[in-house]
Amino acid sequence: MKTLQPDQNKPAVGKISVIHGPMFSGKTEELLRRVRRAKIARKKVQLFKPAIDNRYHATQVLPHFLAQAADESVQVGEAAHVVSHPREIAALLKNDTDIAAIEEAQFLDDSLIDLVRRFSRQGIDVILSLLDQDYRRLPFPIAPAPGSESGSRNVGEYLAIAHESLKLAAICVVCGQDAHHSQKLTLSSVNSEGKPIYKPASFFTEVVTVGTSQELTQNKLFAEKPREFPESIYEARCRYCHVVADEPQ
Ligand SMILES: [Zn+2]
Repeated sequence: MKTLQPDQNKPAVGKISVIHGPMFSGKTEELLRRVRRAKIARKKVQLFKPAIDNRYHATQVLPHFLAQAADESVQVGEAAHVVSHPREIAALLKNDTDIAAIEEAQFLDDSLIDLVRRFSRQGIDVILSLLDQDYRRLPFPIAPAPGSESGSRNVGEYLAIAHESLKLAAICVVCGQDAHHSQKLTLSSVNSEGKPIYKPASFFTEVVTVGTSQELTQNKLFAEKPREFPESIYEARCRYCHVVADEPQ
């Protein structure tokens, strides 16, 4: 039998790995675990995060469970490049980088799909963590790159091109079952004790994507009229406890 000989002239193909699931499912912890393992193996890793994901820390990627202890001086996370566009990742990538790890990839525009394929072709491993569904349980939409006519793309494309993927579940805060969905709740009213009342968000509210950032819009609103409670909050829920108001049947 003829044995296959590896072609020394061909570079190894970079492995594309996708870690996906709802909010609070430990995607960041898993991404950071892989980054740390790669560093122990003396691989050169660069970590990137979208500018929109500034919930806890501006330049470090922090696991959610550490978020409350987040402090500029606490070096528990991994230093990350904060980027607004995939082209910044291409520009920041060093020649000797073995692995590009990208956190919350669903917030970057669709030119990232081509960039991930290019990195893989060049022999660079890519690890992505992403939300696979929006709060409506639909594949998370990806914003088109500026000037691009493409539209209606979603994170399913990353799963299609991945060599390996890991789907994580969170815990439903209502019943304790595995949760695969992110429940969006919007502020409905404040009761007589001053406590906020949240209700399931309508199907027709905005999904946070790049360029249509609800958080940024809200921050603008906060600046104009400071509010005590956030307009919307999220939690993990199973299919039975997940509610979308005004959902088309
Ligand atoms: Zn449940």
